[in-house]
Amino acid sequence: MKNKVLVTGGAGYIGSHVVRQLGEMNYDVVVYDNCSTGSPTSVLHGELIIGDLADTEHLYQVFAKHQFSAVLHFAASLRVPESVVRPLDYYANNTRNTLNLLRCCNVMGVNQIIFSSTAAVYGEVGENPVTELVPTQPINPYGRSKLMSEWLIQDYAATSSLRYVILRYFNVAGAEPGGRLGQMSPNATHLIAAACDAALDRKSAMQIFGTDFSTPDGTGIRDYIHVEDLATAHLDALRYLEENGKSQILNCGYGQGYSVREVIERVKAISGVDFPVIETDRRPGDPACVTACADKIHKVLDWQPKYNDLDQIVYTTLAWKNYLQSKN
Ligand code: UDP
Repeated sequence: MKNKVLVTGGAGYIGSHVVRQLGEMNYDVVVYDNCSTGSPTSVLHGELIIGDLADTEHLYQVFAKHQFSAVLHFAASLRVPESVVRPLDYYANNTRNTLNLLRCCNVMGVNQIIFSSTAAVYGEVGENPVTELVPTQPINPYGRSKLMSEWLIQDYAATSSLRYVILRYFNVAGAEPGGRLGQMSPNATHLIAAACDAALDRKSAMQIFGTDFSTPDGTGIRDYIHVEDLATAHLDALRYLEENGKSQILNCGYGQGYSVREVIERVKAISGVDFPVIETDRRPGDPACVTACADKIHKVLDWQPKYNDLDQIVYTTLAWKNYLQSKN
């Protein structure tokens, strides 16, 4: 058995894929999750402790009981529109709870952390692909709550033995190819989920938000990364910290963008369903194009993605949603 690690939010979409991979690599895993959006059935390895990061007393008890060598911190709220109407909840659940976790790490002597951050910290990007050196100018409370968490980690690391890897996720999609894990949330608003729902006829039509962007086909372009490859980046980051790597901020994306129309075309082709699509106005705050410069993560972690293929992302999402539908 390798080191013992704490995974906050390990019952959630991305966390559960990481927990499964940690299990495959023989890590001893403790998941700490309030199961507000995650599900106990998604924890395929280790021990699940139902708990909230706001409950510091409970958190200290967990740290006291186990000797963690590292923490992987996924637990967070992540809906941008919700963050706009409930900013204080986002600063509490994301920023303050990261502070709670860091205090615990400080008192209990845990000095390695991997943090789930987001491309939302960049805000409106002028140039693509986006490198980690682009100034951070988040445009919503979600992005700001995550950037503030990054600052907490960096400032604390500057005056302690803490070393961190902050991973800034681009557009995460897909599901476990084995078919056991995927996005549980039934009201997913993200493009690939929405298109797959339309294909499986859970919505009568889907919408394209904006066809007048300055992109080749007028629709928004994003860098979609398969959740399985993103999970692998966390395992690589953990190994990197265990080998005494220094603190890093790394983009997680493939460095390749697809437009909304291209995504819809692939979902239609793979599902064989020509679902109706309505062209409508832009969503407020949607940038035209956001793609990652992924050079740094390849170089620093020697990250080797295996699912860099839009068809794989669509295929695994469709299979997962089909499975969820068959259960209900
Ligand atoms: N989008 C769309 N219809 C949808 C959902 C998303 O046209 O039902 C577009 C959205 O405007 C953006 C892209 O798809 O250009 C990706 O949006 P998503 O919500 O998946 O991720 P975001 O980049 O906003 O975090």
